[in-house]
Amino acid sequence: LEHKQEYLTDNFGRVHNYLRISLTEHCNLRCFYCMPEEGLAIRNKETYLTASEIIKTAKALTAIGVNKIRLTGGEPLIRKEFTEIATELSRLPIELALTTNGILVHKHIEFFKEIGLTNINISLDSLDPNKNLLITKRDYFKQIRDNIALLIENGIVPKLNVVVMRNINDNEIIDFIELTKLSSIDVRFIEFMPFNGNKWTLDKCFSFDEIIHAVENHYGRNHFKTIDDGPNSTSKNFRVKDYKGSFGIISSITKPFCEGCNRIRLTADGKLKNCLFSSSEFDMLTPLREGKEILPVLKNCLKNKKEVRAGILPKDKNIELLELNRSMISIGG
Ligand code: SAM
Ligand code: SF4
Repeated sequence: LEHKQEYLTDNFGRVHNYLRISLTEHCNLRCFYCMPEEGLAIRNKETYLTASEIIKTAKALTAIGVNKIRLTGGEPLIRKEFTEIATELSRLPIELALTTNGILVHKHIEFFKEIGLTNINISLDSLDPNKNLLITKRDYFKQIRDNIALLIENGIVPKLNVVVMRNINDNEIIDFIELTKLSSIDVRFIEFMPFNGNKWTLDKCFSFDEIIHAVENHYGRNHFKTIDDGPNSTSKNFRVKDYKGSFGIISSITKPFCEGCNRIRLTADGKLKNCLFSSSEFDMLTPLREGKEILPVLKNCLKNKKEVRAGILPKDKNIELLELNRSMISIGG
């Protein structure tokens, strides 16, 4: 295994043992920050990895040391073969995780328990139904809230992902943190990131420092504490005094966390990406279909990984360059 792990190691010594697989680039919501307004171009079915190709890739990467796989998308739960894929992956020696918008959770709750899928992130950007409709363009707020409650009733405490955007939901930070008072839920605030077609500008990004400032203003500087982040964490984590849950901030824009990065991404159309912000893509689908080796593609992908955020530094004025990248929905967040 040690010899094979070299395939997972980049030029900076980072070992990429965490694979995120996008099961589809389609979705039952239309979050404006995630997908272009006009939607995605319809593509031929053959351009997507089949269930068995996904499973084969996951097995090959697990055999060389990948030990965590997160299923994401688009919305992973709308993929027809979701249960087939998740069942197969749950048999591998990995931690299996899921990121979902929560809409279809009630259909799968027994299945999650059956295969032991308990690491679940749910995205919810507002606690106000009207605002939620504005952001997602679909009216599923109640269903999502009910499904969060359903998970908790079943002993699965999800993490909540909240993309914080100025003048949209930056006034709800405290309301979200208050959810952690009585429940061991973990809320993670994500800085708004630029992707193709999402009309990002730096001033719409509500930053790490601004979030901390809002928290200090409300709770007082001495009433919340940093908690341990773990070695590959992308979030800085905190807990308000005597609260059961915690909150964290994912600051990809103002404070990138690339030193500990251990992630590789596989898109629904079979491209490997070494960084969420990089527009470079490495084709796995063709070798898979031609029965060729896929590990050299992985090696090449990681050899090309830049030290910090695809080579775009925080001080760079042209952070807008990031917008050339695919939209989040087709990368797999
Ligand atoms: N559909 C699932 C969901 O919404 O959780 C999984 C895919 S979604 C692309 C994964 C995560 O990416 C979500 O938490 C979403 O909020 C986040 N995301 C999408 N676009 C983003 C952006 N422009 N900036 C920051 N986070 C973004
Ligand atoms: Fe769909 Fe998730 Fe993107 Fe929203 S963030 S459009 S739920 S993939």
